[in-house]
Amino acid sequence: MAVQKYVYDFSEGHKDLKQLLGGKGANLAEMTRLGLPVPAGFTVTTEACRAYLATGSAPDGLAAEIDSQLAALEQSMGRELGDPADPLLVSVRSGAAFSMPGMMETVLNVGLNDASVAGLAAQAGGDDRFAWDSYRRLLQMFGKTVCDVPGEEFSDALEEAKKVRGVTDDLALDADDLRALTERYKRIFVKYTGREFPQEPREQMRQAMEAVFRSWNAERAVLYRRQERIPADLGTAVNVVAMVFGNLGPDSGTGVAFTRDPASGAQGIYGDYLQNAQGEDVVAGIRNTVALQALKDLDPRSYDELLAIMATLEGHYRDLCDIEFTIERGKLWMLQTRVGKRTAGAAFRIAAQLVAEGMIDLDEALRRVSGAQLAQLMFPRFDLAGEPATLTRGIGASPGAAAGQAVFSADRAVELAAAGHDVILVRRETNPEDLAGMIAAKGILTARGGKTSHAAVVARGMGRTCVCGADELEIAADRFAVSGRTVSEGDVISIDGTSGRVYLGPVPVRPSEVVQYFEGERVDSTLVEAVDAIMRHADQRRRLAVRTNADTGADAARARRFGAQGIGLCRTEHMFLGDRKELVEKLILAQSEVDRTKALNALLPLQRDDFIELFRAMDGLPVTVRLIDPPLHEFLPSLEELAVSVAVARERGEEHSEDEQLLDAVRRMHEQNPMLGLRGVRLGLVIPGLFAMQVRAIAQAAAQLAAEGLDPRPEIMVPLVGAVQELEMVRSEGEHIVEEVIAGTGVQVLIGTMIEVPRAALTAGQIAEAADFFSFGTNDLTQMAWGFSRDDVEGAFFWRYLELGIFGISPFEAIDREGVGRLIRIAAEEGRQVKPHLKLGVCGEHGGDPESVHFFDQVGLHYVSCSPFRVPIARLEAGRAAVTGEGSDSR
Ligand code: PEP
Ligand code: MG
Repeated sequence: MAVQKYVYDFSEGHKDLKQLLGGKGANLAEMTRLGLPVPAGFTVTTEACRAYLATGSAPDGLAAEIDSQLAALEQSMGRELGDPADPLLVSVRSGAAFSMPGMMETVLNVGLNDASVAGLAAQAGGDDRFAWDSYRRLLQMFGKTVCDVPGEEFSDALEEAKKVRGVTDDLALDADDLRALTERYKRIFVKYTGREFPQEPREQMRQAMEAVFRSWNAERAVLYRRQERIPADLGTAVNVVAMVFGNLGPDSGTGVAFTRDPASGAQGIYGDYLQNAQGEDVVAGIRNTVALQALKDLDPRSYDELLAIMATLEGHYRDLCDIEFTIERGKLWMLQTRVGKRTAGAAFRIAAQLVAEGMIDLDEALRRVSGAQLAQLMFPRFDLAGEPATLTRGIGASPGAAAGQAVFSADRAVELAAAGHDVILVRRETNPEDLAGMIAAKGILTARGGKTSHAAVVARGMGRTCVCGADELEIAADRFAVSGRTVSEGDVISIDGTSGRVYLGPVPVRPSEVVQYFEGERVDSTLVEAVDAIMRHADQRRRLAVRTNADTGADAARARRFGAQGIGLCRTEHMFLGDRKELVEKLILAQSEVDRTKALNALLPLQRDDFIELFRAMDGLPVTVRLIDPPLHEFLPSLEELAVSVAVARERGEEHSEDEQLLDAVRRMHEQNPMLGLRGVRLGLVIPGLFAMQVRAIAQAAAQLAAEGLDPRPEIMVPLVGAVQELEMVRSEGEHIVEEVIAGTGVQVLIGTMIEVPRAALTAGQIAEAADFFSFGTNDLTQMAWGFSRDDVEGAFFWRYLELGIFGISPFEAIDREGVGRLIRIAAEEGRQVKPHLKLGVCGEHGGDPESVHFFDQVGLHYVSCSPFRVPIARLEAGRAAVTGEGSDSR
């Protein structure tokens, strides 16, 4: 049997091994293969992590493999790990297949101890200060990330040391200060762990590696994965990399760079540089950085080399790359690269630019954008016509316009958001502990850090508006001060994630330019050009048609402008609300034929006018009108209220015979589970004349428009069918009426059914005999397949199910492929067996969900139908589904 390989040298891997080596490891290997200056190192695989997490201990053979990889690393570096005279030091870094910013842990300077600290000083030309600073950093990172010592213990001790010295900058502490600080850190370590800091370098490395494995299941990592829909069982890889030092003096430093602006997509040189600093200082946003261009003067040789490498990487990955690098005494080292995260607008711009530059084709451009990003671009923006007071300006790190009450801690953000308030989380800088608050907030404002700070990266990932690095803000526990004003908790501020401006008070918002473009207005912008090019291509490629769910002419017209190719669901019960409710109530409660006919006759012309409006707006396109499907209780007075008013009247001895009659009727009709009760086709079969009235109104409307020379294409849809007999009965009556009304008009009327009851899906072969089309009602189908009430469950226990990982996302949001999806597959297949050209669509909420659209494409449906605003998103995702190569040709 082949022995499991758990460790890969950087020279052994490549960029396509992300699942095994994690993103960081795979890309370090790729850069090594490209001949770029990457420090030597190796990657422990995600498989090793999964084995560790499953059993709680490292898998057999891992220790021996690491020993031999380490020996090779020592040999290539000419130093031994932690050698007191001339130590090799390593960093131990996490790296999962999906980038999870700030989630996982890094420990630098592993291999330092009481003896090797002197060797490091000697290596650094007698720089004791540097050596002790490195050692105290190891203690700090190791204590915090490996042993869960509270981070403030270390940062407070550092602040205190600076105070004693009367300095504000870490760099002003000398070797003796740092030596004393190191001793203090050791005592903190003992206090919290009950043991000494491990002096043995290999033991340090082993513990750090296992801590990285464990951090996969840290609370905030779990939370982040849930937000980002990343599977919970992938595990992380661990990278062990020879240390290079950016904190060896002014000719050293560390930085991050982007090959294009990740906020706007503009080409150029973007990044931050921090002189004389180590690794995480830039990302953590602890000190303010300088723009990358400043490196040109500081170290022109490294700057030129970096630019050449950036060009190589962008050419190689054919995409925006982000890069972490370190300069050690004038020598450039690449510590990380990856295809960079970007804002939604940048994703579209960059994809279109790369097409224009001939780097990728339009199919690839389509794969590189998403419906979720398009949704972000459809957010409204601030309307600045009222010239709101600008408080300050920071860096626009994640676009959008957000207004809300200022809050100063993640906990308060969660509390106030839960109470229904919009909040803006204001922090000096964020760290992973703030994640829950960032999710709860409408926007995030920080005083420190650039576009690569934790706040910026995480907010962009979540699509949350963020302004960072607003360094004029003086932030206290419950307020901030800026330009002579104080903003306290609860005061409303508005932040613009594009311009970086922060306003006092609420600022009105205006629609996005992308929405204006979809509305058919002329908008001159590079973003709209990019969206237009990609949308056109999506439309050309997609196999799914996109319709809309609309019940009014205005909605239908807007959806049509947004590209809808018809109406997939008109919920006629929405036409019975308002003042018509009374008519429906009369109809339901009618005791005599005369009363019923009267009510129906009153409703008929109203319905006809409704349909005329819809068919006109969708002239030439199909309009699926669903016959009425209200849970009955929505139209009846409340049993409790009625009972009380009748009881009160009786007590007073008042005559109330009408109310008493009504109460009797409501009692008769009362249901414990109205959602599983008298609704849909059942209502049509129980209340004579109701469906007939609707069918007549549809046919009359169509006939009238046809007479005007228009081209109405009605499709009549019967809801909640579970047995073919139900459909047959409605159909035969309906066909009669249609015949009678539209004979000679040339109008064609289809009659089909929703598939939204599990039994309908399971007997689809029979039902197809009586149906011209199926439309999957995935809301009810999900409700009935899971037995979850769609109206109650989200608040009641879904949070617990999500927490337990029973599902990663509500099945009412994204289609449950294995369960509900299976019912859809069965119905589609069996329906098609009976009628090969049976038209198939979906009109539940899932029709506008990006992930679900891909599933419907795979199953081979003809169309999805969704709310008007989701139409462009569904068009884009349908296009994307078509270029992934996983689709079905059964249409
Ligand atoms: C459905 O059940 O998916 C559906 C579209 O119908 P409604 O949401 O109106 O029940
Ligand atoms: Mg339904």
